[in-house]
Order: sequence, then structure tokens, then C-alpha cells
Amino acid sequence: MALLPITLYGDKILRKKTARVTEVDVKTVKLIKDMFDTMKNAPGIGLAANQVGADKRIFIADISSVEGYENSKPMVFINPKIEKFSEEKNTMEEGCLSIPEIRLDIERPKQITVKFQDTELNEHILDADELLARVIQHECDHLNGILFTDKIPDELKKKLKKDLSKIKHRKIEVEYPVTQNIDYCLK
Ligand code: ZN
Repeated sequence: MALLPITLYGDKILRKKTARVTEVDVKTVKLIKDMFDTMKNAPGIGLAANQVGADKRIFIADISSVEGYENSKPMVFINPKIEKFSEEKNTMEEGCLSIPEIRLDIERPKQITVKFQDTELNEHILDADELLARVIQHECDHLNGILFTDKIPDELKKKLKKDLSKIKHRKIEVEYPVTQNIDYCLK
């Protein structure tokens, strides 16, 4: 098992639009395996490649630890693109391994249709709703350099400024390995 340090709010790679994957080589397979180890250890239910410092359009999800979703399988999404958003929206509390201890109610479309590739680069189309739709949207945002704290009213953003600054400057205690500086990039 290999745990990778998780990037924190303020890290530059979290603001990057990540690069398309054109080949799944041995290194990429190892990255995905390590991402699962890292996500389970944290623990989390979704993790994007730039959250471990990798500039690749890959995210993983496993919601089976959540009550009511025990039968869900771990999933890998390569080059995901959300093709359709429902008009109906819902609000759920979200958190993020890169923004420890902050949880916020976020409104998002309730259902989505996502196109993605698997580790053999075969294409799939998936309709998702409720929690899975939520995780997919949160993780696709990551791959485009967007964080859930971008989606709240300005007034609330002001209130969070201090907390976010603490995370950026590592003035917090986190129970899983995190990066030590904002320029971190996985070699
Ligand atoms: Zn996140």
C-alpha cells in the first residue's frame, strides 16, 4: 500500500485544468492504485488526480462506505466530461480532503450524464443521480481547477477566508499525509 500526500487548498495544481490522458501506462495504473489507497486511508469517497499532485484527467470514487450505498463499486473515471445536467437541483453538505474540516451546503444539479473512459480507454456513458452525481460533479470540478468553496456566496467566502488561509499555510492538523508546499507536483 502506498499513501500519497494530498494537496491542500492553496496548492497550485488544484487550480490547474488537468491534462487529458492519452495512454494508461504502468505508471498510470500505479497512480490509480495509490489513489485508492490514499482515498481509503483518509477516508474519502472521491479523489481527483490533482489532489495527489498529478496533472491528469483522472478521478476515482467509492461511495460504498455511505449508508444506503453499500453495494456501489469502486469506479475510475478517465477523461470525464459531464454531458447533461438536470434542471432539478438539490443541496447537500460537501467536504473535501484538500480542504480539511470545512463542510458547506452546496447546491448542484440532482442528475447528470457523464461520458468517461476506463483504464483500457474504452468509452462509457453513465447516468447518475443523488450522491454519485454529487461526487462526480465535485471531482470533475477538481479536474478543471474548481473547488467547492468557489460555489458559495461572497459573504460566506469572506467568513471562510481565515480558515482557508490556515489550511494554505499548514496551520492545521490533518490525520492523513498532506503536501508540504504549494508547488508540490507528483514526480
Ligand atoms: Zn474535493
